[in-house]
Amino acid sequence: MDFKSSPVIVKAVEIAKKLDLRIFLVGGPLRDIFLKKNVLDFDLAVSGKVKEFGEKLAQELKGKFIYHPQFLTGKIVYDDQYVDIAQLRDEIYERPGALPKVKPISDIETDLKRRDFTINAFAYDLLANKIIDPFGGIKDLKEKKIRILHEKSFFDDPTRIFRAIRFAERFRFQIEKQTLILLKKAIKESCLKTISYQRIFHELNLILKEKNFKEMLYQLSRLGVLKKIFNKSLSLKEISQLAKLKKAKLAEELIFAYLLFLLNFKEKSFLKKETIKIIEDLNAFKKIKRKLLKAQRPSRIYLLLSPFSLNSLNIITALAPSLKKKIKNYQKSKDQKPFINGNQLKELIKKGMIKNLREKDFYKILLYLKLKKIDGKLKNKEDELKAIIKWTQEH
Ligand code: ATP
Ligand code: MG
Repeated sequence: MDFKSSPVIVKAVEIAKKLDLRIFLVGGPLRDIFLKKNVLDFDLAVSGKVKEFGEKLAQELKGKFIYHPQFLTGKIVYDDQYVDIAQLRDEIYERPGALPKVKPISDIETDLKRRDFTINAFAYDLLANKIIDPFGGIKDLKEKKIRILHEKSFFDDPTRIFRAIRFAERFRFQIEKQTLILLKKAIKESCLKTISYQRIFHELNLILKEKNFKEMLYQLSRLGVLKKIFNKSLSLKEISQLAKLKKAKLAEELIFAYLLFLLNFKEKSFLKKETIKIIEDLNAFKKIKRKLLKAQRPSRIYLLLSPFSLNSLNIITALAPSLKKKIKNYQKSKDQKPFINGNQLKELIKKGMIKNLREKDFYKILLYLKLKKIDGKLKNKEDELKAIIKWTQEH
C-alpha cells in the first residue's frame, strides 16, 4: 500500500525502530485508506515513550508537538497537516458516560478492543507489515456496516450513538442489526442523560461540519436522540433552515446557535454570551417579524431592528430573503449620527438658543434627531436646531 512510502510514515518508522517501539497505523485514516479516500493526516499508535516519539517526529517534520500527558496522546501540526499520536492504552469507564481513565499497555489487541466500531478497530503493523483485524473491521467495511464491539458499548459511552449515526450517514453505511437494537435500547434507557452538554455539543458540532449533516440530524430526530436530550426534535423544515445557513456560509458558531434555538435550549450556564444573545434575539424576532414585513419608514425599521446583534441579523437575513433589503438598508443607515450631540446641546442651552430642555430629556431628543436623520429629514445643523426647538415646544 502506498501510504507506507509516504515521508511521514517512513520517518515515523525510523524513529520507532530507534526507540525500540512497535508502531501502528490506526483509526480513521487507516479506515479511509481502505475506502480509497485521499488521506493526508495520519493516526499513529506506539507501544511506549509517546512524548519522546512525538517530539522526535515533530522535529523531523519541522512541526510542533502538542502533548496531552493525561490522555497519553498528542498531535503534530506541520504545514497545514497533522499527525495524531497515541500510546497504546486501555480505557476504563468508572461511570457510564464519563470520560474514561487511561492505562498504558503494550499490546495492540487490547487497544483495539476499547474502540467504537469494527471499521475503526483494525490496525496496520508498520514494522511487521501486516493488518491486525480482530473484529472483522475490513469485512464490515466491504459490507458497509457499522457494528459495535461489545454489548455494553453504547452504555459505556453514549457519544457513540452520535458517532454511529455520523459514520453511517457519512459513508452511507447501515448500522448493523444487533447494533441498531442496542443503540435504540440505549436511547430508550436514557443513557444519553449520563453525558455532559459539553460532550453533546461537541458531537453536534462535528455533525454540523459534515456534508451529509441533514441526514444525520434527521436520524437523530427520528431515533429520538434529540427528544431525549432536549425534549424537542427537529422537523424537516427546521433541518432545511440549518442547511440554508450552511449554504450562506455563516460561521459555525452561528449555525450551532441556531440549532440550539431550534432545540429550545434554555440552560444559559452552558453557553457563551454571544450564543445566548443570538438565541434571545431569535426568540424576540418571532414577535416582530410581521411588523417588520409591514414596516416601510426607515426609522420604524430602525426601532424594530436595533435591539438585534449583527450575528442575529446575519442569521435572519440568510433565512428570510424577503427581508434582506430592509436589513441591508438598516445596517447602512443605523450608524448615522446627527450633527448635534450631547455636549453641543449643553452649549446651545447655555447660549439661550434652546429653551425648556432638561438634561434628562437629552436621550429622547438625540434619538428623535437620529430617527429623523435616518428618514432623511434633516440635512444640516440648522434643520436639527429647528427640529429641537419644535420638539421642546411640543413636549
Ligand atoms: P474522523 O474521520 O471523523 O476523524 P475517526 O475514526 O478518525 O473519524 P476520531 O474521532 O478522529 O474518529 O477518533 C480516532 C479513533 O479513536 C477512532 O477511529 C476510534 O477508533 C477511536 N475513538 C474515537 N472516539 C471514540 C469513542 N467515543 N469510543 C471508542 N473509540 C473511539
Ligand atoms: Mg480522526
